[in-house]
Amino acid sequence: PLTVEVRDLVVRHAPGRAPALDGVSLTLTPGKRVALVGPSGAGKSTLLAALMRLVDHESGRILINGIDVRDLDPEDVRARITGLTQDPYVFRATLRDNLRLAGPEAGDEELAEAVRRARLEEWVARTGWDTELGEDARTVSGGQLQRLALARALLYNPPVLLLDEPAEALDEVTADALMADLLDVTHGRTTLLVTHRLRGLDQVDEIVVLEHGRVIQRGRHEDLVATP
Ligand code: ADP
Ligand code: ADP
Repeated sequence: PLTVEVRDLVVRHAPGRAPALDGVSLTLTPGKRVALVGPSGAGKSTLLAALMRLVDHESGRILINGIDVRDLDPEDVRARITGLTQDPYVFRATLRDNLRLAGPEAGDEELAEAVRRARLEEWVARTGWDTELGEDARTVSGGQLQRLALARALLYNPPVLLLDEPAEALDEVTADALMADLLDVTHGRTTLLVTHRLRGLDQVDEIVVLEHGRVIQRGRHEDLVATP
C-alpha cells in the first residue's frame, strides 16, 4: 500500500505565467478515495500530470511512502500511479480481447492468466456486462469504453488510481450509471477522482475544492454540500 503526499506544490507551465498550482497539499491514504473538484482551469489536470511525473514542480514536494518522487525513476512512479484519461485508446478487437491484453506481467504465465481471469470475471459480475463482451470495442458507447478502460486499469491492480473526469463526455443518464459503477468498484482502493459532478461523492473520504491553483475548501460531502 502506498501513501502519496503532496506538499505545498507549485507548478508553472511557462515562466512568467501564473502558476497552475499555487501551493497545493493533499494526501492519498491507502484504501481511501479523494475527489478533486473545481472549475475548468483550476489546476486539476495539472495536479494529475504532476503525480504521474509528466510535469515537474517548481517548489513543494511529492512523496511516495516518504520518498521524494524526484529520487525515483519516472517510469517507476507511473507503474504505481495509474492514470485513466477521458479518451481511452482501444485495440481493434472485442471488449473481451481488450481486457485479456491487459493484466499482470507474466513472471509465472499460468498464475498471471489465472489472476487475470479471476479479476475479469469479478469485474463482469459486478457490471453485468456478459452480453456485450463479444462486441467490437470500436462500436460501443462512450460509457462502455470508460468501463472498459477502468476494467483494464483495475486488472493491473494499481496501488494508486487517478481518474480524470471519467464521465465528462457522457450524457446525464450514462454518466450517473458510470459514476455509480465506478464508485462501487473503486471502493477500498487508493483513488484520486477528478470530477465536477458532486452526485455520489458522499461515498468518497475527502473532497478537495481547487480554484486558481489553490485549495479553497476541503472536507467530507456532508460538510461541503448543502442538502435541503
Ligand atoms: P481539462 O479541463 O480537462 O483539463 P483543458 O481544456 O484545460 O481540459 O486541457 C486539455 C489539455 O490541454 C490538457 O492536456 C492541458 O494540459 C492542455 N492545456 C490546457 N491549457 C493549456 C494552455 N494554455 N496551453 C497549452 N496546453 C494547455
Ligand atoms: P483543470 O484541469 O482544472 O481544467 P488545468 O490543470 O488543465 O486545469 O489548467 C490549469 C491552468 O494551467 C490553466 O490556466 C491552463 O490554461 C494552464 N495549463 C494547463 N496545461 C497547460 C500546458 N500544457 N501549457 C500551458 N498552460 C497549461
